[in-house]
Amino acid sequence: MMQRAILGLLLFTLVSGCSHRALQPLSYDPPGSTVTTDKAIEFQPRRTISFSNTGVAVSNEFEGARLNDFWQVNDSVYTALILPENHPVNNSAWYAFKIWARSPQRVTVNLTYRHGTHRYYPKLSRDGRSWAPLDSSFFSRDTANGTATLKLDIGPDTLWVSAQELMTSRRFAEFVDELARLPFVHKRIVGHSRMGRPLFFLEIRESDAFQGQVFIISRQHPPEVTGTLALMTFVRTLCEDAPLARRFRQKFRVAVMPLVNPDGVDMGHWRHNAAGVDLNRDWFQFNQPETRIVRDTFTELAQDRPVYFALDFHSTQEDVFYTLAKDLKTNLPEITDRWLAKLHELLPDYPINESPSGLGSPVSKNWFYQTFNAAAVTYEVGDEDPRDHIHRVAQAAARALMQVLLEAI
Ligand SMILES: [Zn+2]
Repeated sequence: MMQRAILGLLLFTLVSGCSHRALQPLSYDPPGSTVTTDKAIEFQPRRTISFSNTGVAVSNEFEGARLNDFWQVNDSVYTALILPENHPVNNSAWYAFKIWARSPQRVTVNLTYRHGTHRYYPKLSRDGRSWAPLDSSFFSRDTANGTATLKLDIGPDTLWVSAQELMTSRRFAEFVDELARLPFVHKRIVGHSRMGRPLFFLEIRESDAFQGQVFIISRQHPPEVTGTLALMTFVRTLCEDAPLARRFRQKFRVAVMPLVNPDGVDMGHWRHNAAGVDLNRDWFQFNQPETRIVRDTFTELAQDRPVYFALDFHSTQEDVFYTLAKDLKTNLPEITDRWLAKLHELLPDYPINESPSGLGSPVSKNWFYQTFNAAAVTYEVGDEDPRDHIHRVAQAAARALMQVLLEAI
């Protein structure tokens, strides 16, 4: 009995020691980010607001929209109010709305925020699918107040205004369907988010005799669209009809969960899931259904073959590869160094920005390493990177990874 009590105490000490170590917030995290039990969120009213004197109307009645209020200041000036789903929250101040008018006119829209400040340069679209940045002469920002001012030429045709291209769950459904048409790609829905949206899963392989695996996830954070653009190119490159990719698919299985936080994305959140939680701080406690589903799906897959590499795509102010600390031993030694060296060889003009870090925070990268001994990288893409640059780097990064993994086994 005594022995059992001592063992229990020892286990408790070990577990609580680990939990303390694995629950460090990151330097830029707001208070409470590593508390991942459910928090209350505020739902934005979904509505269309019209002004009879000018014929102007705005709407947030679409997936990915974020517009909490909108009012008229004078004949041509309006204020848009943008709030996060809850706070404190990382300053990823997402906004998206549609605007039109009875007759053509130029309007000024002041973007104002609570619990955050202006971050994303406005993108415009006439159809919700193809986007271009707002002309710079039509944009100004007030850094002291954290606001931005947009001049918009509007008329009877809808103009979409958004922090980034709208890449909502519908676009992910199209993406997985597109790839699932290939004979070596299999699509499944492995579970559902808190609000019942599907969590998509892709399995890529050409042989049952594969020797190792690569796990890929993205979009834990709703506004991080450039990470999604990189992920899509990266995965398409793994699926391309080329000798390298064909050889790779004979030897490796790739498992992809491209949209981990569909609720946050479709609800136009700044950071969190429908329970107000930063999912990329829940990889130790697993309080949220989305992280539990990813955990269970990958843990099951890892039963029979080793996991050599894991990638989690995100966005931030600049391109950066958050890698593991150099003293950590992974299934394939120094595979991350070899990957980044190969990427440099393929893109000599691309300055590789690598930032290795320890295991202190409850992020997916650390879970991939601690659970599977996999090399793991958080692949961060700059918010305002030119989109053709994102594609060029992601394509080279995928080819570099295939090459070094094939050389290593
Ligand atoms: Zn992120």
